[in-house]
This record gives sequence, structure tokens and C-alpha cells, in this order.
Amino acid sequence: MNKIMVTEASLPNFEKYCEKIKLVWDNHWLTNNGILHNELTEKIKEYLKIDNITLFTNGHLSLEMGLQLMNFPRGSEVITTPFTFVSTTHAIARNGLIPVFCDINPDDYTMDVKKIESLITDKTVAIMPVHVYGHVCDVEAIEKIAKCHNLKVIYDAAHAFGVTYKGKSVASYGDLSMFSFHATKVFNTIEGGALVYSNPEYSETLNQLKNFGITDYERVDYIGGNAKMNEFQAAMGLCNLEELNDNITKRRKLVELYNELLSTINGIKFNEIQENVVSNYAYYPIVVLDEYGLNRDELYELLKTYNIYSRKYFYPISNEFECYKNCKGLTPIAKDISERVITLPLYSNLGEENVRKICKVIERRQ
Ligand SMILES: *Cc1c(COP(=O)(O)O)cnc(C)c1O
Repeated sequence: MNKIMVTEASLPNFEKYCEKIKLVWDNHWLTNNGILHNELTEKIKEYLKIDNITLFTNGHLSLEMGLQLMNFPRGSEVITTPFTFVSTTHAIARNGLIPVFCDINPDDYTMDVKKIESLITDKTVAIMPVHVYGHVCDVEAIEKIAKCHNLKVIYDAAHAFGVTYKGKSVASYGDLSMFSFHATKVFNTIEGGALVYSNPEYSETLNQLKNFGITDYERVDYIGGNAKMNEFQAAMGLCNLEELNDNITKRRKLVELYNELLSTINGIKFNEIQENVVSNYAYYPIVVLDEYGLNRDELYELLKTYNIYSRKYFYPISNEFECYKNCKGLTPIAKDISERVITLPLYSNLGEENVRKICKVIERRQ
């Protein structure tokens, strides 16, 4: 029996990729602002209709350097969500900052904006929400709170490449937004990431931070790192970007089929696309309610017996990990969702027959 994995990386046509990387051999230029790197920068700007972007070797280091750019005093607090990939929380902590956890909405799993203000102290410097599964945070309420308390807003938009809210890229909101181009994401550059921002002055410093903090030939002003995107990554990005819209359309059709087939099953909750949002159909999370009969772990194991590999994504939540369990903030809803959520297989070539098979197992409960 063939295994159905939770995801499968999008790969472009092999010859097309070879054609792209031929340029690397022609130029003997592998990394450090190469031609393909610069071309991808421009192509993504066009695709997202945004003005400023800096590419990185992965999403996590983008986030770390985005925070470093802000130059917050060590020990400052950043309000964030525990219902995320632990990278979000690590980026805060690795900058010497303290994560403070805010609970999430029970419907779309993004940060519950009603709970942000009670967490603000005189040490708070920023809010770092996550557009989790590509669900858009309440960006307007967050902006209001941030303005009122003079806080920066840095979005982890790792899941939200191509998602728009009110006709604009989600990355148009906040001071910075991070995208991940990891192999498992909707758009990949093998490994890769980017920061998008509205302040054009960030660009120079970010380019320096990702190149060891070097500001000139004989001058280093920042304690930077190495987080440059290389030409092979950029070539993959250029090829994949051309196929992205088709891939998203394929994903949309599969999601619509999932919705149709699961809507008749008692105790399985799935998400409708939010108002004013165009989705990228990155993930297909479902929440297992008590009425379903089996609990989440039982469903996860049942699917496995049919060679269907779903993921408990996100479980456990960040504030249950050893390194964060003493952090501030009560998050009972995030905990409850994390114990009920499963992301089902979703990728552009999954095929309708596999969606039907998965839904049949969920429906039979055995
Ligand atoms: C993938 C991911 C990251 C990290 O991105 P990488 O490109 O893998 O470094 C951060 N946050 C979230 C929510 C992610 O899903």
C-alpha cells in the first residue's frame, strides 16, 4: 500500500531547473547577492505587489534577524502565541528577549486580540503574532493596540505566502513579516525565507546582518550572522514561483473536496476561508470534537493503519516545552486545540482519490 504523507515538496520540471542553474556555471557565482538571488527578489516583489523584501537562507534566521534589527533592550518582553512552530518562540528567546504567551481564538487559532492588552507591561516592546495555517490575524485590531502602546508588530507569516487580506498581501501589515520558503511550505526555495517591510531603510541593515554585520570592506558595525540565500535556492524559487498559481488552484480543489466530504461527519470541525481573505490553501487542519467518538490521538493512529500520515500540528504548544514552560501567560484554548487538531495530507499532487480515501476512513471511524 502506498504511503500518503502529510505533505510533498513541490518540485519544478527537472530540465527547467537545469536550464536556470546553467547560469551559475556560466558565471561561477554561487552566493552573495547573485544574479538569480536578485532576480527572485524582483519576481517576488511583483508577485506579492510589495515594495521591500530581503531574502534569507531560511525563515527562522529571517525572523531572528528581523528582531535583531529592532535593537530591543535585552530582557524586553514580546507578546506571542504558543500555537505555532517553535521557531517563532526561539527567534524571540535567541535575541535575549522574553516570550509572553497570549491565548488564541477557538475559531481560526490566531492570537486572541482581546487578550493582548492585559499582557502588556512596561517591558513590552513588540507583538509577534502568527498567521497560523495561513489564517489571517486580526491585523487591524493588532495595529490599533500597537499604535496605542507604541509597540512594534512582527508577523510570523511563514504559512501565508500568497495570502491576501482586503486585496493586499498579508505582509503589507505590521512592521515586518517573515515568510518561510522551506521545502514543506506552499512556495519553496528548498530552504529559504524572507522579510517584507514597509520602511525602505530596513533594507541596508538587513543585508548587512545576514552577511556577518559587515557594513563596508574594512568595517563591521553589527554582530551579524550568515543567512544569505544562495543561487541554487533562488533558482528553485524562480522555477517554483512560475508554477505557484497552478499549485494553489490544485490545492483549492482538494480543500473544497475535503470540506464537502467532511461536512457530513459529526464531530469533525474544519475552517471556512475567512472574510476578505484569499487563501493559499497551505494546510488542512481539522479539530476533533467529543461528538466524533474517537479522540485526536485515536484518529491519528487509525489513519496510520491505512498508511495515511497526518500530523499533530501544532502539538505540543510552545509553552509546554521544557525551555518555555515557566514563561508568563495562560493559554487554555491553545492547549485544548493542540490536543484536538490534526493536519490532514495536502499537496498539489495529492489527488482526489486520496482525499476520498482519507475522508472514508474518518467517516467509518475504524
Ligand atoms: C516553517 C516555519 C518557520 C521556520 O521557517 P524555516 O524556513 O523552516 O526556518 C517559522 N514559523 C512557522 C510558523 C513555520 O511554520
